[in-house]
Amino acid sequence: MIELKNLTVPAVEGPEGVYAAAARALGVPQSQIKTLEILRRSVDARRKNAISFVFTVAVSLEGEDALLEKARGKFRRYQPPEPYRFPYSHLTAEKRPVVVGMGPAGLFAALCLAEAGVPPIVIERGQPVERRVKDVNRFWETGALDTSSNVQFGEGGAGTFSDGKLTTGISDARIPFVLRRFVEFGAPEDILYLSKPHIGTDRLRALLVNMRRHLISLGCDIRFSARLADIDTADGRVRALRVESEGGAYTLPADYVLLAPGNGARDTFEMLMSRGVKLTPKNFSVGVRIEHLQSAIDAANYGKAATLGTLPASDYKLAVHLRDGHSVYTFCVCPGGHVVAAASESGRVVTNGMSYYARDGQNCNGGLLVSVTPDDFGHGALDGIAFQRRLEEAAYQYGGGGYRAPAQLLGDFLAKRPSAGHRSVVPTYRPGVKFCNLWDVLPDFVCRALAEAIPEMDRKVRGFAHPDAVLTAVETRSSSPVRIEREDGQSVSLKGLFPAGEGAGYAGGIMSAAVDGIRAAEALCAAL
Ligand SMILES: Cc1cc2nc3c(=O)[nH]c(=O)nc-3n(C[C@H](O)[C@H](O)[C@H](O)COP(=O)(O)OP(=O)(O)OC[C@H]3O[C@@H](n4cnc5c(N)ncnc54)[C@H](O)[C@@H]3O)c2cc1C
Repeated sequence: MIELKNLTVPAVEGPEGVYAAAARALGVPQSQIKTLEILRRSVDARRKNAISFVFTVAVSLEGEDALLEKARGKFRRYQPPEPYRFPYSHLTAEKRPVVVGMGPAGLFAALCLAEAGVPPIVIERGQPVERRVKDVNRFWETGALDTSSNVQFGEGGAGTFSDGKLTTGISDARIPFVLRRFVEFGAPEDILYLSKPHIGTDRLRALLVNMRRHLISLGCDIRFSARLADIDTADGRVRALRVESEGGAYTLPADYVLLAPGNGARDTFEMLMSRGVKLTPKNFSVGVRIEHLQSAIDAANYGKAATLGTLPASDYKLAVHLRDGHSVYTFCVCPGGHVVAAASESGRVVTNGMSYYARDGQNCNGGLLVSVTPDDFGHGALDGIAFQRRLEEAAYQYGGGGYRAPAQLLGDFLAKRPSAGHRSVVPTYRPGVKFCNLWDVLPDFVCRALAEAIPEMDRKVRGFAHPDAVLTAVETRSSSPVRIEREDGQSVSLKGLFPAGEGAGYAGGIMSAAVDGIRAAEALCAAL
């Protein structure tokens, strides 16, 4: 196969134009191409009058060897990269390892452990995805929150009701492995080559059921509605777990525990602290969700090409560094998506975003966040959590109860006057929003940072500061406010405990959490 890089296809031709572009680049008729594998596809929107798809492909064709020889180095033969393989197999263990949490970190850890010969017991405080979807829909429709089955807790973890965005800032050989496994369990194949892959909440939910069946077939013992409530220790080692479940509490003897509880597991952090596990506070971010019309974001990104119908719903990635040391940035943008109620604790409002695979909703929403450090919220290990809770409680109060969220039009926010209702952008948050003045809800330094950054962001994406855009508060759970200190994969203070994923402070997002789960499974296998 011959590898072709930087093949440009004008937006007007649509992605199907890649076959003709490959034939042109090779100087052969299109009929000579036998197969074409897309290795990467992105959109180049830097010049609004020449928006194009950019491809890397591997092509097999009649007379390939002769063509390569004639081209004298112009083309190269495609060498597929060496795939990552989990480095352990055929292991045995006296006691089965235990995985806590079925988010991406816990799921991929369980998968690797099971395939290495030590299928773990997996405990998850929430419900299987089928029941969880019902619990979450009821919450969004009625405001009746189930504190153990919600957008944070349950099979699939925090990203289940998400856009299923798989972009990540990390670079790691395990990433293609994670993507391939997602496809094996039902994710769309395009995640293997898109520069901004996403699964969508709808496809993600189906994928989780397939992944669970596979884990069970490998011998995993999956226990839902089973919360890690306490840890028994002796001589600085884990000895057993105290598990609370629907059927009652029980003790689970365990020597090796992979702990992947996500960043919403505040009670778990408190328990760890009381058991002397070393936790430290870490920087995180707080802010709001911002909603625009998707058509406005597409017009800003694509210009006239936005109406061609060939380009994907677009997003943005913006950051402004302020003189006072805070940064304001956009995060987890959900094109064609919905703002979701993502609370897990009573009397506290939390927002986030999700999209379906089609990304065909009216609005585009994104987190608009201000970075905060222990200097803003305190240097105690759990001070960040206390700060998050204060903001979430204020949001609940100003939302007027029932998990409605406080909201404001962007124009009114910049003018510091309360809003009375929406205009062209209809807020998607359910069970509903209450318009007010967000300067009353959020800390002053957060509001000032947002107000300073928004006009800057508008210079990069025209219309970002549209006065009808809706801000919905409060977004507090974009990353963990604590870190469970670890060395060689194990807690520095409790041997046998392998903290992993976002809650442990080592990941931010689905991909990096999955990768960290694999890393933690490697460390656990090394210890075995
Ligand atoms: C609405 C929403 C949308 C998001 N969108 C995206 C996106 O598009 N792309 C992206 O990359 N990231 C997204 N994220 C972030 C992403 O979901 C997280 O980074 C990721 O899920 C972290 O994975 P994790 O496995 O570390 O933890 P989690 O996914 O949080 O999973 C932890 C699991 O542990 C369980 N648990 C917690 N405590 C206990 C206990 N004591 N006992 C037993 N079980 C316990 C929880 O119920 C949960 O299921 C989104 C998050 C939310 C909330």
